[in-house]
Amino acid sequence: MADRYLSFTATAPGRFLTRRLGLPQPAALRRWSPEYPDLDGGLLHLTAGPSTLDLAPVLARTGPGTLSPDPVAAVVLDATGVRDVDTLAEVHAALHPVVRSVAASGRVVVLGAPLDPDDHHQSAVQQALEGFTRSLGKEIGRGRTVNLVRLTDAAAAESTLRFLLSPKSAYVSGQVIGVGAGPVAEGPADPHRPLAGRTALVTGAARGIGEAVAETLARDGARVVVLDVPRAEEDAHRVAERLGGTALALDITAADAGERIAAALPAGLDVLIHNAGVTRDRRLVNMPADRWSSVLDVNLASVLRTTDALLAEGALRPGGRIVATASIAGLAGNAGQTNYGASKAGVAGLVRALAPRALAEHGVTVNAVAPGFIETRMTAAVPLFIREAGRRMNSLAQGGLPVDVAETTAWLAHPASGAVNGQVVRVCGQSLLGA
Ligand code: NAD
Repeated sequence: MADRYLSFTATAPGRFLTRRLGLPQPAALRRWSPEYPDLDGGLLHLTAGPSTLDLAPVLARTGPGTLSPDPVAAVVLDATGVRDVDTLAEVHAALHPVVRSVAASGRVVVLGAPLDPDDHHQSAVQQALEGFTRSLGKEIGRGRTVNLVRLTDAAAAESTLRFLLSPKSAYVSGQVIGVGAGPVAEGPADPHRPLAGRTALVTGAARGIGEAVAETLARDGARVVVLDVPRAEEDAHRVAERLGGTALALDITAADAGERIAAALPAGLDVLIHNAGVTRDRRLVNMPADRWSSVLDVNLASVLRTTDALLAEGALRPGGRIVATASIAGLAGNAGQTNYGASKAGVAGLVRALAPRALAEHGVTVNAVAPGFIETRMTAAVPLFIREAGRRMNSLAQGGLPVDVAETTAWLAHPASGAVNGQVVRVCGQSLLGA
């Protein structure tokens, strides 16, 4: 369903009227396309406090354009060395004069250090960076995004910086992403097809977000397997054919779904995307047990079951990636969605607990995307006023597109993202619901 308000505010009278009425002013976001692969303009690299990161060579490879910042497409502020309130003032001093000059749809990325549990001063000011980042994200406007990356090793964060400093992260803002110290994988042979030679299975891929994920992973070179329920088999085949992949008609809630996936892919798989999901909304007082259990079964139990089965069978090859789909409803809660919110919070719990073990025992990372309001059939069915509120109640004042979730998934699935593990990354335009 088209966002008519967004189209209206893109016209001169629309802009005039909505400004006079004090209504939201969504900017047209510039997303990745073959014609627009990088942000237009230069990168400004600033530092607050004494940094030990070897950032310059990484930024030279990942940043938009040149280091001549005119116009400024992106600012990277290295605040990893901030350990006390006095040095925190350097964050203000560095960004205060330049924020205004960041171009529309530009990026601000703040780099922080992991919190040091033995140093409450360092923890206090490094935590302060989160409040700073989220507040700046809420006020910066013009389609610009602000994110915080906690890291210790610049090279291990290269794929993450590449994503955040590109048009692919147009709808990711206000996020805090932790990047571990390694391992730093070899970059893919062909940077334009990083998933070449890899097999990716996407559940619920016959339409909506799953279809966009399959399409984006295929763009990145993966051989895709489009899994969906038998009644959506025709659509699944259509998608698979278009992407040069294969379709697998399977209800993911089947007790032996994991074994059947493994049997269908005897050579194994590299990327497993748990995207299939359903809603059966009712307030708890009106919710019969079957509406509860069907949502928990599709959104959480089947994710647990198939993940366990595929890991136990060794079906995920080392270097593999699992990306599950949570939701802001699971993080912030949503009226009428106790079942859905529970299932999606469960996904976040699964990811955080399994990630270290899956990496240690199988060489597989486990992360989640948590979409906010994304323009799909699921959200088109939402009543008009709730839909309008969902679209506007985020810092970018518009809904995201399935491709925004897909690009975030592709970053997590990237062979060089091995140091990103156990993260739940919201793709929500910085929803004003919850943190
Ligand atoms: P959608 O309803 O358009 O598509 C979901 C797909 O999953 C469908 O093709 C459906 O047939 C498939 N599916 C459902 N049950 C299945 C099962 N048992 N086995 C196999 N396939 C099954 O939904 P969408 O909007 O594209 O959402 C995709 C995912 O993103 C879901 O997990 C959803 O909860 C999550 N999400 C969506 C939004 C949003 O705004 N659209 C927001 C937050 C989270």
